[in-house]
Amino acid sequence: MSDDTIVIRPPSEANSFLLPVTIGCSHNACAFCSTFYDFKFGVRSIVDIKRDIDAVAMHYSRSVSRVFLENGDALIAPQETLVATLQHLKDRFPNLERVGTYSTPKAALLKSSEELKQLRKLGLTIAYLGVETGDEELLKKINKGATRAQIIEAGRKLKQAGITTSVTVILGLAGTEGSEKHAIATGKILTEIDPDFAGALTLMFMEGTALHKDYLAGRFKLISPFQSLVELKLIIENSSFTDCFFTANHASNYLPIKARLPQQKAELLALIENVLAKKDMSMLRPESIRAL
Ligand code: SF4
Repeated sequence: MSDDTIVIRPPSEANSFLLPVTIGCSHNACAFCSTFYDFKFGVRSIVDIKRDIDAVAMHYSRSVSRVFLENGDALIAPQETLVATLQHLKDRFPNLERVGTYSTPKAALLKSSEELKQLRKLGLTIAYLGVETGDEELLKKINKGATRAQIIEAGRKLKQAGITTSVTVILGLAGTEGSEKHAIATGKILTEIDPDFAGALTLMFMEGTALHKDYLAGRFKLISPFQSLVELKLIIENSSFTDCFFTANHASNYLPIKARLPQQKAELLALIENVLAKKDMSMLRPESIRAL
């Protein structure tokens, strides 16, 4: 197993110490994602993880307050690895405030509620869960490796353990054909999970993926930039949150937005409707500067 890795992290973890706990992604099969194609999945040894922590602590012991556990779904690591990692982080960084991780639905479901609570107690404060869509048929098509019900259960389980839950969905994932169904179902699954943070990205192709191959063969038709806003509007209309910070300000999005929901729901819908009514491309992020 190679220790070489790539840095993938949520935008909100830009200032965190990125600590590899796993290599690659245990699923590595989503139809739109080739991020970890070159990496054989594995869990790093606790000796290596502690060595990395010690190396950073030697110089930055007091200044590290945030840590992000890498890579694609670090929560899938065995409980003993995560427990030892979190304990060592606490020992070495006295000002540690938060530790985050990506989680697949499977990773969250494999842990018992008690195990998740134990991790929360030891400092795991936030988990980023890829939901992608609420459309059952589309989940199968993109090979997400989890059903709608399993994704809802995973999100709720994390939340119930006291771990802040941040989820992402992907605009345009169904192409033109399933666009409306995807958006409505996605609004509904977000309601069921009721996450603390929800982010909508817009589909950008990664070469070599099944979805990209479908596109090249004419089997998948990309939605237009304005259709992505129609999807966004449908998602917001069909979702109901207790208290969620909703963003669509990723570099892949055509219209950067952030809002606290439900408080700013009417305002947000009015903003999107205004852009949709004008259909003025200059109001959108130019294609040339969109990025994954
Ligand atoms: S679970 Fe995440 S990292 Fe893994 S293949 Fe799917 S999208 Fe990529």
